[in-house]
Amino acid sequence: MKDFSQYREDFPLLKTKVYDKPLIYLDNGATTQKPQCVLDKLNEIYTLYNANIHRGVHHLSQIATMAHEDARKTVADFIHAKSSTEITFTRGTTESINLTAFCFGERYVNEGDEIIVSHMEHHSNIVPWQLMCERKMATLKVIPITPDGELDLDAFKNMLNEKTRIVAVTHVSNVLGTVNPVKEIIHWAHLNGTPVLVDGAQAIPHLPVNVQDLDADFYAFSGHKIYAPTGIGVLYGKAKWLEEMPPYQGGGEMIEHVSFEKTTFNELPYKYEAGTPNYEGSIALAEALHYVSAIGMEQIAQHEQELIQYAMEQMACIPNLRFIGMPKHRSGVISFLIGNEHPYDVGMLLDKLGVAVRTGHHCAQPLIEYYNIPGTVRVSLALYNNKEDIDQFVLALNRVANMLL
Ligand code: PMP
Repeated sequence: MKDFSQYREDFPLLKTKVYDKPLIYLDNGATTQKPQCVLDKLNEIYTLYNANIHRGVHHLSQIATMAHEDARKTVADFIHAKSSTEITFTRGTTESINLTAFCFGERYVNEGDEIIVSHMEHHSNIVPWQLMCERKMATLKVIPITPDGELDLDAFKNMLNEKTRIVAVTHVSNVLGTVNPVKEIIHWAHLNGTPVLVDGAQAIPHLPVNVQDLDADFYAFSGHKIYAPTGIGVLYGKAKWLEEMPPYQGGGEMIEHVSFEKTTFNELPYKYEAGTPNYEGSIALAEALHYVSAIGMEQIAQHEQELIQYAMEQMACIPNLRFIGMPKHRSGVISFLIGNEHPYDVGMLLDKLGVAVRTGHHCAQPLIEYYNIPGTVRVSLALYNNKEDIDQFVLALNRVANMLL
């Protein structure tokens, strides 16, 4: 087992104090802090080779273009895609899902068809499908969950039929931490001839991901949740789908030839990347992926598993604390409530003690309504968290619980 204490030193922001107390940052599910190498990379781009890519014959443009295309290769390798042409850069998970819902819907969905999502999805993996269903007069079906916060797979299998066009499901729940059996879900969907989009926003920083092993048709994630900047994300799509679907947005970069009579479109991977790409983001994302790869995703997963177990043992001793969701396979996230106290009050008091957590519905209102609660307090981990963070958090939570009782 690697000693993880060295990695914490790579993240300058973690030395910050809030209200004169050392910061305990446990809101990584919302966004992660950035290592020095990613900050340096951003500086390097603007100091040494900033130029618009793909268009320029000049030296700087060629260096920037090469770095952007190398970044695509790094992403492809990181998620084990067959080819880097299957990697489209987007603004993030939300845009990746909107792109898929729109373009897939335009090509394959007709009146009376069915789209399947689950009851534990983030709004980003609900609303784009709803919009598409409204446009195409299709129906949204929802995989039910169990009180422990797991998908009801038998119900899912029974929902698949000849009208099912696509299944969209999260790899890891951002509220419950449930690691869904996406490989099995994809297997069953494929037996029905149905492709699957996996929302990987909360899986990518915590688990090794192999899109070919999963046999995912689409896999979406955001850079900022895996130590890269905001504004950059990825849509992996099997070439077959990306080639058959119509483009998403029109503009520069995504065309082959434009005339007023007819425009033809660029080949993959440029077809869905209209306008100047966020090459600063893609290059910095590649740096972040090199960073986590050097540590090892398996090691990161193991380190975080130990922390989760430790945190849950400590938290269980806090009076009136109840966990929301007790999935068998959990990653990254713990949601809880203290008695009937509003999560916002708990979060605000924790903040005053230097502990940053998330409170509320976490953009998953249907899930929160299922549990009939006002929201949760959510602790979410990253590779730089350690047992001291958990000890400080539990100490603070004990104080808060006693204050509120
Ligand atoms: N899906 C899940 C499961 C998420 O946790 C998030 C971010 N909270 C998103 C989608 C949306 O990600 P982004 O806002 O980076 O597009």
